[in-house]
Amino acid sequence: MNFTSTPTGPLGLSRWLRNIVDTVRTTVIGMSITIKYFFTKPVTYEYPEQRMPVAPRYRGLHYLEQDICIACRVCEKACPIDCIEIRFERHPGNVNEWFEFSLDYNKCMHCELCCYPCPVDCIHMGREYSLVKYDRSELIVDLMAWDGMRDKDHVTIQAAIDKKKKKAEEAAAKKAAQAAKAAGYEPSAEDENEGEDEE
Ligand code: SF4
Ligand code: SF4
Repeated sequence: MNFTSTPTGPLGLSRWLRNIVDTVRTTVIGMSITIKYFFTKPVTYEYPEQRMPVAPRYRGLHYLEQDICIACRVCEKACPIDCIEIRFERHPGNVNEWFEFSLDYNKCMHCELCCYPCPVDCIHMGREYSLVKYDRSELIVDLMAWDGMRDKDHVTIQAAIDKKKKKAEEAAAKKAAQAAKAAGYEPSAEDENEGEDEE
């Protein structure tokens, strides 16, 4: 539109006036929208200082409650694209020595199929969504809170070994007593005292 050019003839004058009316009308419409948003609460989040709230059931990054994980591998098997890698060694007392529990976010499609079948409900998808890395290899994330074993695990293992040993000794003694009984040998009070003295 050109307001400066001189309108020529009745048609030129009417177009010139229409341009002025349109300009004023569209400016008023535009400014009314601007003014409306000027007085409303801003919706911009200054990421990463400010985080956008996510829905309660948002499927973000996984987290593991390693304390209660029983290393059953159900999550690993349930994952349709083999993102989860679990390596451990089971010791007496059901103590797990952890070597690896990792998740490959290069592949993960955040379907949550690994979480539903967990028998002790210890793997979850959290609300954290930031996974900014400089290298793709960093997208293989370690979910373990610790690796190897904790001090209390060694105590549990030793207690389990002692218990098993005691049980085996009791079973052997019982077996020996049954064998002696079958052979017609009844231990005398002296024998029993001897056994106690030896202990
Ligand atoms: S969310 Fe889905 S793709 Fe990702 S690890 Fe779990 S089962 Fe696999
Ligand atoms: S399914 Fe649950 S308990 Fe079993 S290994 Fe996975 S996280 Fe651990």
